[in-house]
Amino acid sequence: MQLFSIFGDPVSHSRSPLMHNSVFKNLNFNACYTRTHLLDGNKLKETFFALGLSGANVTVPHKEAAFNACDEVRGFAKKVGVVNTLIEENGKLIGYNTDADGFMYAISEFKNIKNILVLGAGGTAKALVSRFLEDDLKVTVLNRSATRLEYFQKLHCECYSWDTFKIKEYDLVVNTTSAGLKDNNLPASEELIEQILEHTHYAADAIYGKLTPFLKMAQDKNIIFKDGSDMLLGQGVLANALFVNNRLSKEDIKREMQKSFTL
Ligand code: NDP
Repeated sequence: MQLFSIFGDPVSHSRSPLMHNSVFKNLNFNACYTRTHLLDGNKLKETFFALGLSGANVTVPHKEAAFNACDEVRGFAKKVGVVNTLIEENGKLIGYNTDADGFMYAISEFKNIKNILVLGAGGTAKALVSRFLEDDLKVTVLNRSATRLEYFQKLHCECYSWDTFKIKEYDLVVNTTSAGLKDNNLPASEELIEQILEHTHYAADAIYGKLTPFLKMAQDKNIIFKDGSDMLLGQGVLANALFVNNRLSKEDIKREMQKSFTL
């Protein structure tokens, strides 16, 4: 039996085990997917091999550590330096990123998106911003601390920390911070978020399975919004296709994975 896991801190909230096990069980793939609470990202590689895993997903806050842990990084992950999917291949650790395409899948129903404000400057923000720029979208980044903005300045994004922010009009605002994940924080001050939501058509949160304080404010303002569930589904389908080495079709994976969302 092949073993898979998700690494994160926190990780108990993760729906990934349900999603992947639903595919493995219903499509008779001899594998099991668990969760691993990992405090120290530097221990990722040794833990992966000690557990005898064939593959894994990586969530907050270890996606950049996962990039560094890999023997080889492929595709979009190489460009952004952020890895959310790991595969064991001939004793080597291979890294991929399926988050960005998962998010594009999630917002495909939002129309005329040309101008996006991204809240946060962590691993998810890096992946999404690079993907948005590939589609020639205009991107502004707003983060709590200025230090992490350098990466986005190099990509020629408009960049602000909370104290320098100047409001403009946006088609979509995306919360990629972990504010609201295990607390009730907003991604910036209430005044700032209030102002931002008054200047956007759509709002999205990478956090899934709960109405974050950010989405609650969007809801109160009658803004069309979505949480991170579709992004989760999109990245999960692409990760699972890598886990099974394309022996199952993406359509079948998606159908079985979707079933786990109603459990
Ligand atoms: P990182 O740790 O790499 O980055 C976290 C970011 O959040 C930083 O920009 C940090 O700002 C900011 N931040 C943290 N706490 C606060 C706060 N209280 N107020 C304002 N900003 C804050 O995390 P990831 O990019 O890996 O993940 C971010 C979120 O996205 C998580 O909640 C994760 O669960 C979710 N996610 C969901 C996915 C899905 O499939 N739906 C896929 C991937 C991620 P600073 O630089 O100032 O510290």
